[in-house]
Amino acid sequence: MTTRIAFIGLGHMGGPMAANLANAGYEVTGFDLAASSLDQARTHGIKIAESAVSAVDAADVVITMLPAGRHVLELYKGTDDSRGLLSAASPGTLFIDCSTIAVGDSLAAHELAASAGQRCLEAPVSGGVAGATAGTLTFMVGGLDADFAQAGPLLDTMGKRKVYCGGPGAGQAAKICNNMILGITMIAVSEAFVLGEQLGVGNDALFDVMANASGQCWALTSNCPVPGPVPASPANHDFRPGFASALMAKDLDLAADAQAYAGLQDVGLGGRAADMYRAFSDGGGAEQDFSAIINAMRAKADESDFAGQPTVTATDAS
Ligand code: NAD
Repeated sequence: MTTRIAFIGLGHMGGPMAANLANAGYEVTGFDLAASSLDQARTHGIKIAESAVSAVDAADVVITMLPAGRHVLELYKGTDDSRGLLSAASPGTLFIDCSTIAVGDSLAAHELAASAGQRCLEAPVSGGVAGATAGTLTFMVGGLDADFAQAGPLLDTMGKRKVYCGGPGAGQAAKICNNMILGITMIAVSEAFVLGEQLGVGNDALFDVMANASGQCWALTSNCPVPGPVPASPANHDFRPGFASALMAKDLDLAADAQAYAGLQDVGLGGRAADMYRAFSDGGGAEQDFSAIINAMRAKADESDFAGQPTVTATDAS
């Protein structure tokens, strides 16, 4: 019998993920609060339910792809106005939350699921909207390994790679560790280009050096914050995301929260990167790709009273 999937949250990521499951022959019933997401989902063969609760009615697996932890917990538990999904689903249903949420919220979701007699995995993703559409996401999974084994074919349909990271919370922890590196390295790469610009080194020459030396990293060679060297990077397209600065700020805040939770506050650059992305997002950059942080640094460089490198001309030594 076909696995029946309830998919809640059919936005930028959830929409194409649910579409890939439906295209692979799974029976997918979806729900979202936004009418536009529902219209889009219908065109991909997803059956639309009246509510999240009715979507899980006959489901074997419930997948959520929601903005933040409070959305996941509210749906799992229910509110004064609505029954919770955990009590509405048949006992033993597998809940897979693919949203990026706080480690603490993820642990709370696992506990709620266990006490309701349900099974639960967290499986946050990397790969963005392009990966969700192409079915090439990477899943970072936390929960029981038996549940991971059951989820395998579904994750393989939506992605190209799945990593079992450990028990509850380990998948979210892996996701924010990775994104903390990404946020910090983008700041470092941007800072280097701004310094190069101040000192008169051309961006192409600097890229050529760093891409082939120890400064090499994904932020430089795949998502380069200056236009030119990497034609597909958002810097060539007015910083259209890509991965929006607001989402990077959110992930870095989650990383800072997790560091505080683990007693690791102020051990490195994670907190500083979170502050920089929050300020950039709040200052109007929220919808731009996260590589646009370079413009915040350029604005600071413009305030500098550095007059530029002196021009040195060759002299005749004879
Ligand atoms: P999105 O805002 O496009 O989609 C979220 C959807 O959830 C929206 O359509 C919204 O209407 C719906 N929703 C909210 N509350 C709901 C409820 N109670 N019931 C039903 N639907 C509800 O966001 P997205 O870009 O798809 O991101 C989803 C998650 O994936 C986030 O946690 C994000 O951090 C993570 N993520 C996003 C990307 C990316 O590139 N966009 C990459 C990796 C991870």
